[in-house]
Amino acid sequence: MTAFNAFWVEKTDDGFTHSIVERSTDDLPEGEVLIKVAYSSINYKDALSARCLPGITRKYPHTPGIDAAGSVVSSSSPDFKEGDEVICIGFDLGMNTPGGFGEYIQVPAGWITPLPVGLKLRESMVLGTAGFTAALCVEKLERMGAAPSDGPVIVTGATGGVGSVAVALLARAGYEITASSGKAGKTEYLKSLGAANVIGRDELQEESSRPMLATSYAHGLDTVGGSILSNVIKSLNYGGSVAICGLVASPAFQTTVLPFILRGVNVLGIDSVELPVDQKTATWNRLASDWKLDSLDDMAQEIHLEGISEAVDQIFAGQISGRTLVSHN
Ligand code: NDP
Repeated sequence: MTAFNAFWVEKTDDGFTHSIVERSTDDLPEGEVLIKVAYSSINYKDALSARCLPGITRKYPHTPGIDAAGSVVSSSSPDFKEGDEVICIGFDLGMNTPGGFGEYIQVPAGWITPLPVGLKLRESMVLGTAGFTAALCVEKLERMGAAPSDGPVIVTGATGGVGSVAVALLARAGYEITASSGKAGKTEYLKSLGAANVIGRDELQEESSRPMLATSYAHGLDTVGGSILSNVIKSLNYGGSVAICGLVASPAFQTTVLPFILRGVNVLGIDSVELPVDQKTATWNRLASDWKLDSLDDMAQEIHLEGISEAVDQIFAGQISGRTLVSHN
């Protein structure tokens, strides 16, 4: 039995409370692998869980954190041994299983990826689920045949965690990127990540009854949904694809079939959560090698458990750019 600190969310009649509590490894659910977490990160889903908002966590009190990277303490699985450095993202981690905002997690071996050669624990969590999801989007666009020579790619919610890594990955691969952002002061940040053009979110937000708009983008990577996604779909070139992964604006979007049947547009759904671990491992390996980003440190701010509550507030106030790393060191 080992005592450790964890960020603790309790549901109250008028909302939620946050504290840092001492827990014991005996309190953790059964699982094959006990991991001492070195780093976690803050994702949009963690913010929803920390505010007790519906759709993520059913049972409180709870420790969120859908991301964790650290070292194996003990394992009953032949696949992992004490001292192995590992990454655990997705599945039920941080949803109803205590997550990476605690210094220890205990999980099934099938949720874990060995830390790939070429990536440090800290770097893996600067990427975290958000960066990993950006990579899934780019991979799926390329599987649909997208290539830099097709023309500009629009990235929405561009200063967000998914958006920032998406801009950097696409730029590294040679794409011309138009970044859409609601943050007027972040143009230089987005250009430093590799965006060629930055447009205001409002340019894409206006609802239009027209079934199609002038073609402006070869492909898209959408993290926000709603009318922005509708307008991206209506603005894609013939044969264009949009990878969709998020819903910060709205889970709903409105379109007719016309972009699909007249322009051959493709909508590509992205899920990082239930993706089988062997596929997760393949994408992590890519992020550690040919897709390794030099700009990882530039897109992350580092906090400790005490800073999580404020970081959650900043997410809902639209004040965070890039990635927020949670260090347990
Ligand atoms: P962040 O909170 O880091 O970023 C979201 C960004 O969206 C903001 O930075 C902002 O960017 C933009 N934004 C915020 N509010 C609005 C709004 N009301 N309307 C339009 N744009 C807005 O979130 P993440 O990048 O971590 O996640 C983005 C989405 O992707 C979330 O919905 C998340 O749940 C989802 N997701 C899905 C995954 C999957 O497996 N499918 C995995 C990971 C995330 P800006 O100011 O630049 O416009």
